[in-house]
Amino acid sequence: MQRQGQILDDFTFTSTLKACSGLGAIEEGAQIHAYLITRGFAFSVQAIVSGALVDLYLKCGLVEEAERVFNEMPERNVVSWTVMITGYGKHGLGREAIRLFNEMQVEDVEPDGVTYLALLSACSHSGLVEESREYFSILRGDCRIKPQVEHYACMVDLLGRAGCLKEAKELIHNMPLKPNIGIWQTLLSACRVHGEFEMGREVGDMLLELDGKNAVNYVMLSNIYADAGYWRESEKLRVSVKLKGLKKEGGCSWVEIDKEVHFFYNGDERHPLTKEIHKVLKEIERRIKEETGYPCEVRFALHDVEEESKAESLRYHSEKLAIGLALVHGGVEEGGRTIRVFKNLRVCGDCHEFIKGLSKVLKKVFVVRDANRFHKFEDGFCSCKDYW
Ligand SMILES: [Zn+2]
Ligand SMILES: [Zn+2]
Repeated sequence: MQRQGQILDDFTFTSTLKACSGLGAIEEGAQIHAYLITRGFAFSVQAIVSGALVDLYLKCGLVEEAERVFNEMPERNVVSWTVMITGYGKHGLGREAIRLFNEMQVEDVEPDGVTYLALLSACSHSGLVEESREYFSILRGDCRIKPQVEHYACMVDLLGRAGCLKEAKELIHNMPLKPNIGIWQTLLSACRVHGEFEMGREVGDMLLELDGKNAVNYVMLSNIYADAGYWRESEKLRVSVKLKGLKKEGGCSWVEIDKEVHFFYNGDERHPLTKEIHKVLKEIERRIKEETGYPCEVRFALHDVEEESKAESLRYHSEKLAIGLALVHGGVEEGGRTIRVFKNLRVCGDCHEFIKGLSKVLKKVFVVRDANRFHKFEDGFCSCKDYW
């Protein structure tokens, strides 16, 4: 565009920044930021461009950068505040989200439905049950905003995680709107986590009736049967997924190396460095086993949605391959730059353990953005506190 003498406007910047945030292409995004600064930024102080910048940094896992841009914004509207609150939520910074929510009102910016959603989801990701109940009841009392199914879904998610399954189910039954598929799936996965077989079976059967073409529902219910020891029922459901030819979305992860984004699917062997990747992963797995005892026996509930088939899991998951490539490139020396990886689905429980071990053994920071939130792995721990 520039070579052709076109004039770059706010729309050019916001859409280019958006493309970068979607991919997590932080280097390119930061270049656009730099370009804006050299151009004085003043020609475009609209909240919309700064908002896109804040969003970029948040989506790439750079919270402090995002805060800096946010604090320097000349004017902040409800969208800018909401972007920041959403970002805090995804990084598990629930208290910060609440602080911002209160602060915006001091600055006379009224929260809208999306802001409330961001706040509730931030509370949910941080396990702030009491706070959520409080803000949810404020929302319900706010005559300007009508709570949507998404707000209820957020509450169900939170109550489900906290083990308040009866309360969650009652909330769905008493909501003034028609519950959607997602809200029942949320309750179903909470039933599995807390071993609530009866409620799980009831909700699962209902889901199969409402949404019988979705493989996820079958897999979730099948897992609930398996956990309770009903192997035959569990197997029956798995077989019917196959017979019906239903498929789940495949896992895909990507990592940016020297300004190039590399994509990996599960068991993917198309990358020219596949041999080296497998070698480095094997080697590092041995070290993690020796030094931390991974893999430990953990029941990775919650993750049935992405549970890959047995054949696939024998090979490498996409997130491991992406990390492997980063290790091949950066070497496995300790410390150094943070490695950032992105995944289209939730990160799997086994890989989560693996990356925890990796961060400890290599004394490196790993940031993984999955479909739900950010995981920052440092010294053997994850910022999600194994709760995602
Ligand atoms: Zn995995
Ligand atoms: Zn995590």
